[in-house]
Amino acid sequence: MPELPEVETVMRGLTPAMAGARILRVEQRRADLRFALPHRMPERLAGRCIERLSRRAKYILIHLDQDEVLVAHLGMTGRFTVSTPVSDAMAADGALTRAAGGDPAHDHIVIHLSNQHTVTYNDARRFGYIDLLRADQMPTHKLFRDLGVEPMSDDLTPAYLAQRAASRRVDLKAFLMDQHVIAGLGNIYVSEALFRARLKPTRMAHSIADQRGCPRPQAVALITAVREVLSDAIAAGGSSLRDYVQASGEMGYFQKAHAVYDRAKEPCLREACGGTVRRIVQGTRSTFYCPRCQR
Ligand SMILES: [Zn+2]
Repeated sequence: MPELPEVETVMRGLTPAMAGARILRVEQRRADLRFALPHRMPERLAGRCIERLSRRAKYILIHLDQDEVLVAHLGMTGRFTVSTPVSDAMAADGALTRAAGGDPAHDHIVIHLSNQHTVTYNDARRFGYIDLLRADQMPTHKLFRDLGVEPMSDDLTPAYLAQRAASRRVDLKAFLMDQHVIAGLGNIYVSEALFRARLKPTRMAHSIADQRGCPRPQAVALITAVREVLSDAIAAGGSSLRDYVQASGEMGYFQKAHAVYDRAKEPCLREACGGTVRRIVQGTRSTFYCPRCQR
């Protein structure tokens, strides 16, 4: 499942092809993904200008003229592929396979742009979600109104995190996964951030705050770690994006080496630690950590 860095990478990959372009025509090949697609979507999108793209949590926001926003969530298997007349010609020559963009039977939406780019949304399992909203409805929309702060923004401060953690009787892993506290942080990067901050995933969330609800040093370390793991992954996504887009048009799915995630029974990568990564289950999800250096 794509996490925040993958979604950010997809958004950045789509931006050069989409921002500033006009939508000429939209092919919609089925009525629904996870939910029904917006009513009369192809008619409503045709002729519209795309002003810019952004991201909120794991939603890609395609800002249109007339203050509307096309919202896309990739679900489990959603992917966007950008193709240009040049890459199509290369594909026809057999220089490229379509494998990178997925089985064309799952190409559900194709957006033809005025700059000759074509953006295709492919989703084998159809857990993805696309909606067309008015920009002024977004702050109160059910998808967005309860979301916590963006982890890369200035809104995530030690004081904020400590204040939210102070009264919580949950473990630190569950606290960080809570989308009402920090938006878009998922299972992989929570494990990675806790490792970097040297904090044990099972310790209580309120232990990062003191009795007055002010941040202890662990809150500061945690924010630094969250930002580092996300920005490293986004940087890795950016470099894989450069490799992939030129080769195949695919974006957003990349292998990143993790320090603890999916490394059960392997040696801890922290220098001179000598510990062994352990896998436990919290809630219903796997957590990976080093019992020796995470306290
Ligand atoms: Zn260790």
